[in-house]
Amino acid sequence: MSLFGKHEAMPEDAYVNMQKQMMMMPKDQMMGKMMELAKMCTCPSCPTYNECAKNAMETMFCNRGMSFHCIKEMKGCICPTCPVAKMQGLTHQSFCAMGNEKTQRFNGMLKE
Ligand code: SF4
Ligand code: SF4
Repeated sequence: MSLFGKHEAMPEDAYVNMQKQMMMMPKDQMMGKMMELAKMCTCPSCPTYNECAKNAMETMFCNRGMSFHCIKEMKGCICPTCPVAKMQGLTHQSFCAMGNEKTQRFNGMLKE
């Protein structure tokens, strides 16, 4: 009988593998990787992205989490076409309003 029930074995999809790889990196290497990914973020081209977010230099909500106080109205999401989504194996979107991939995955598990 599993101690943690049905969620003990986390599915080893591309996102989980990527997170494990990132966690094993030395901190400076991980920061470098994050900066590299942030440069690829296409949020600034999204109709939902606004002047406030631009001025606050908010990007890469899929990793950093939802917009702190700028994005309140959704006008579509172009995350599925972003290269970061493919590279990181993201399965969610609308991160600026719904929280990062990790949060949305966890929230999804709680609803099961
Ligand atoms: S997946 Fe979305 S939030 Fe993440 S880097 Fe790409 S456009 Fe930005
Ligand atoms: S997370 Fe998605 S909805 Fe939000 S600004 Fe980025 S591309 Fe647009």
